[in-house]
Amino acid sequence: MTTDLLHAKLKENFGFEKFRPNQENIINCILSGKDTLAIMPTGGGKSICFQLPALVLPGITIVISPLIALMKDQVDSLKANGIAACFINSSQSGEEQQLHIQNLKDNKVKLVYVAPESLSFLENVFNQVVVSLIAIDEAHCISAWGHDFRPAYTNLGYLKNRFPSTPILGLTATADKATRTDICNQLNLSSPKIFISSFDRKNLSLEVRPALDRVKQIIDFIKNKPNESGIVYCLSRKTTEELSEKLQKIGINAKSYHAGLDNKIRAKTQDEFINDDCQVVCATIAFGMGIDKSNVRWVIHYNLPKNIEGYYQEIGRAGRDGLPSETVLFESYGDMIQLQKFASGGLNAEVQLAKLERMKQYADALSCRRKILLSYFGELVSENCGNCDICKNPPAFFDGTIIAQKALSAIIRLQESEALPIVVDFLRGSKNVYIFEKGYQNLKTYGVGADISWYDWNQYLIQLINLGYCEIAFHQQNKIKLTPFANKVLFEGEKVQLTTVQKINKETSEIKTA
Ligand code: ADP
Ligand code: ZN
Repeated sequence: MTTDLLHAKLKENFGFEKFRPNQENIINCILSGKDTLAIMPTGGGKSICFQLPALVLPGITIVISPLIALMKDQVDSLKANGIAACFINSSQSGEEQQLHIQNLKDNKVKLVYVAPESLSFLENVFNQVVVSLIAIDEAHCISAWGHDFRPAYTNLGYLKNRFPSTPILGLTATADKATRTDICNQLNLSSPKIFISSFDRKNLSLEVRPALDRVKQIIDFIKNKPNESGIVYCLSRKTTEELSEKLQKIGINAKSYHAGLDNKIRAKTQDEFINDDCQVVCATIAFGMGIDKSNVRWVIHYNLPKNIEGYYQEIGRAGRDGLPSETVLFESYGDMIQLQKFASGGLNAEVQLAKLERMKQYADALSCRRKILLSYFGELVSENCGNCDICKNPPAFFDGTIIAQKALSAIIRLQESEALPIVVDFLRGSKNVYIFEKGYQNLKTYGVGADISWYDWNQYLIQLINLGYCEIAFHQQNKIKLTPFANKVLFEGEKVQLTTVQKINKETSEIKTA
């Protein structure tokens, strides 16, 4: 199809003047009958890539989506543009489903959205209609290498055999290199063309802060921008509720949002947020998929995310209008330990633990964070971004060998049987009851680090863990243990470079969060 004709369709049906990067290429690829994988960041404009071809192609387009809750919205907005679309999923009655199936048979519908587990309902339709295109949204769900594996997706590989001459379009915002290849294999795509849009969102600033007194930090942050709306992502439902209450108490218009809330309440919160009637949503990751709000000015992660894909998708909800927007991630060792427990007990533990490790490496980064993020998605960037905390405030190194020796010896004296806070108390010569009960005040190295603050010790120990000299045994009450590398520092003269602790919140430096 000519460029002019495609543009005319874009304008006529969707009201847009021009294509976003890659949209036109993807559409042309599909129209030429090729299997295609489109990797585009959230908000990049994936939907047009199958909606426009659906209008041009003679038969129906099947859109497979895992998000039953969003199907209705998507279909409603298509209908609002005068496009004949419907959805079929388990939320509907049998009669309703039959009605849609009849409409499909009567060629009254161009696009049908269906959840993977409901595909079988369509089997008898398939024999009577022409299927021109199969679009598989959130295609990473098929891959155990992805971060959101869904068993219902695994069967989708049969589609290529069932419709050998129908192009399949996989769409995802979140595939690293291994996942991309796996998606193509699992879907049995034949020599697919892969389009990768740039994931760089230059307007998002990136920042990671230690999670010391994070509620206070969040309150200060929000108070500084009274008219700007944002999202605070939390790991647990409980945290979303507690945090939103704390914010409400000091007069911030905040709501909580998670999958455990009533549908009506959730829909209301979502509407209020979109219409700027609610400034802050404290949410689990259940919030955001498909929420189209262009002026989200900031996203905070109260807890460390499980992986970089999720993190990038979540911060990507800020600044869709292209204006400068802020993102802040709070890093705490407590979170890391909890996430490790989740991951090691879940599906694909090894993969999920490795992804979590990458996430932690990002949070602990000492070089441009955007480079790390983009390289994760396979993009190489030569310049530092200038819009992340590391670029703005590069870390300074110093010879931390003596600090490291003190810390590692202390861990030995404590027989590798204490968690991080006690190790710090011990180093600082703290006079707390537990120390005295254990008789730790009589051990050598007790108090050898009294000159360094609690907060700084905490950070140095975390650095030593990241450098690989010691580790947290998270299935043994988080005891700090040495690794074999510790010997190099203790006995073989190895020098240790540490970074100066950033003084973000000095007045809270005695607060213990680990
Ligand atoms: P994704 O599925 O990649 O997250 P969507 O398809 O929902 O993104 O599109 C995100 C937003 O961008 C929507 O509001 C959509 O209407 C808008 N959009 C998509 N393509 C264009 C375009 N070519 N011009 C302007 N806006 C667009
Ligand atoms: Zn940077």
